[in-house]
This record gives sequence, structure tokens and C-alpha cells, in this order.
Amino acid sequence: MATIEMNNIVKQYGDGFPAVNDISLDIADGELMILVGPSGCGKSTLLRMIVGLEDITSGDMVIGGTRVNDLAPRDRNLAMVFQNYALYPHLTVYENIAFPLRLSKEFSNDEIDRKVREASATLELDEHLSRKPANLSGGQRQRVAMGRAIVRDAQAFLFDEPLSNLDAKLRGQMRTEISRLQKKLGVTTVYVTHDQTEAMTLGDRVAVLKKGILQQVATPRELYEHPVNLFVAGFIGSPPMNMLPAKVNGDRLELPFGSVPMTSEVKAVLGDTELLIAGVRPEHFEDASLVDEAIKPHGVEFDADVDVVEWLGNEQYAYIPFEPPPEIAGQLADLQAETDSESLRTQIVVALDTASRIRDGEST
Ligand code: ATP
Repeated sequence: MATIEMNNIVKQYGDGFPAVNDISLDIADGELMILVGPSGCGKSTLLRMIVGLEDITSGDMVIGGTRVNDLAPRDRNLAMVFQNYALYPHLTVYENIAFPLRLSKEFSNDEIDRKVREASATLELDEHLSRKPANLSGGQRQRVAMGRAIVRDAQAFLFDEPLSNLDAKLRGQMRTEISRLQKKLGVTTVYVTHDQTEAMTLGDRVAVLKKGILQQVATPRELYEHPVNLFVAGFIGSPPMNMLPAKVNGDRLELPFGSVPMTSEVKAVLGDTELLIAGVRPEHFEDASLVDEAIKPHGVEFDADVDVVEWLGNEQYAYIPFEPPPEIAGQLADLQAETDSESLRTQIVVALDTASRIRDGEST
């Protein structure tokens, strides 16, 4: 297994802005690192530079202590697991797993047999060795693809959006499977996705990219609770964080629906800023009728016309139409373009538990 160190990595295609712009990132031995960001942010390019399928314009790529910039992909000893798993349909599970070993011509039949049986035991595929991929479930196919990576004793696994073709249910199952296997094998893994839910649920740490630039590297929890900028704040979280215009007024912060007291800590951070954008996560709203009287003075109570309610069983989302004031509308629109997501809308999203009685078209 190995560490992966990226030092000031740049990828420039033609004259435009770099696809990967001065990225430095250290991945620990055995860590599962997620690269996430909107389409075109450079995450696949970065992965392809790790594996050697793309030249590095400048910077150093160091894997297991060795600078690999000039090493061919086959000499890097990495295993790439693709979206469609790239299994050979005419070969059995056994032969699919044995394939890279036969190709290398370095192993005797006995050695190949031992390695295939070891890998298939780890992956609980022993009973399926004589089947063809067409007769396997999606999860089993995923495991065969990982088996091919394991038998090679690869230094690291690299996944490029492996689940994007699957339906939501299977995607959820596969996510758990990959996470479980990765922990069991303890293999350094880099996993590319554009899906922030996948990133948050899978990764030890998540690297968020935008336009080739690394925005933040942190644990999922740290990203959610302490995003370093508006892009990360808007990109991570579903439903997304509400971005609301806010004004400092003495010790209070004025929001579109009233003012809230500020702690001295918050005040110190904001300094003399007058107009700002306040991020409020949907779950930080509560149904006032269910809030303890002692807690009420710390918040702001308001009436809202609810446009739509989405009932999810364990919680419900209420959508409250919201017209940003003209002095901030432009700023919000820029922000929306910048986050490249639908996270900022002209509505406030509120997540409430199911004890709250809200209905479409009603006030709460
Ligand atoms: P997606 O999720 O859509 O695959 P991504 O984040 O993986 O996006 P990349 O595929 O790494 O993004 O592309 C990053 C940028 O580099 C994009 O602007 C893309 O158009 C550009 N790009 C990628 N490959 C090439 C290439 N071979 N030649 C020129 N430009 C390229």
C-alpha cells in the first residue's frame, strides 16, 4: 500500500485556464480520499494524472515515496476500477480475476490459482467463480472488478464515478459495499464523483474542487459544519444550505424574516461588515409551536407561507417563496452561477421533523 503526494500539480490543455491548477494534496496510506466537484472541475483529469493516463504539465506526483511523473501507467502498480467495471463477458469470474496475472506472464498457474482463491475468499465470491458476469448481480460484478485489483497487489485503487450508471437503490448498496471492502483491505483509495452525497457518505476525507482549484480538504463532518467558502457551503448538503442576505445591526443580525442576537464571537468575526450572506441549513429551522419557551429568545419567530411540502417519512421539507431584496439580488445571482448548482433559489428550504404539522398553502 502507499501514500500519494501531489505537489503543485498543474494540467494545462491548450490556452484556456488550467484544467488542474496548482493542486497539492497528500493522501495517507490506507485512506479513502474522495475528489468531488461539479462537471469540468478537473477531478477526472487529476485521477488520470495519478494513474499515468495523462501527462503532468508541472508539479510532482509521488506514490509510495517514488516520483512517478515519468513512469508509464503499468509501472505505477495502481488499479483503476471503471464505471462499467470493464469485465470480460466471455470469461468466468475466475478468469476475470486471473486476467491481469496471466497478462503479466510472471506467475505460474499454481500461483495464479492461489491468488485468485485468496481474493475471492476475501470478496466472498468463492461460490461464483465459474459464473459469467452476465449472471451476477451489480454488487457481485463490483466485487469481481475489485478482485482484479486485489490480485495485482496494487499500491492503490482508483475509482472514476463507478456508480453513476446504477439506479438509486443499487448505488446505495454499492456505496456501502465499497466502503466495507476498502476498510477490510486497508488499501489507499482515490474515488472521483460529482455526487456530494456519495462523497459525504464514503470518504475518510473529501477534496472539493472547482474550476481546477482545490477549495477544501476535510472530513465530511468538517466540510458540512465549517465550509471555508460559499462554494463549499452551497455544494455540500442536501437540500442545500439557504443563502440569505443579512445585515449587522448592533448586536443583532437582521435576516429577511427578523433579527437574531449574535454572540460576541460571531460579532468579532464579522467586524464592520454591513451587508453579508448568512448560510442557514434547512434543519436549523424549527416549528415554533414545538420549541421550548426558554429557547425561543435565542432565535427569531416568523410566519411563512409554505409553497410546497415534501414528505419523506422521517422528515419533511417545506419550501417558502422568497424574493431577495434588490440590493442583494445581483450578488445572490452571481453566487448561484459560482456554485454551479441549484442550491440558491428564490426560496427558503426548511427541514422539519414529522411532528410538525405543515401543509401546502398553509402558514407555519
Ligand atoms: P466530469 O464530471 O464532467 O467528467 P471533471 O471534473 O472530471 O468533469 P475533467 O474531465 O477533468 O473534469 O475536465 C476538466 C477540464 O478540462 C474541462 O474543462 C474539460 O473540458 C477539459 N478537458 C478534459 N480533457 C481534455 C482534453 N483531452 N483536451 C482539452 N481539454 C480537456
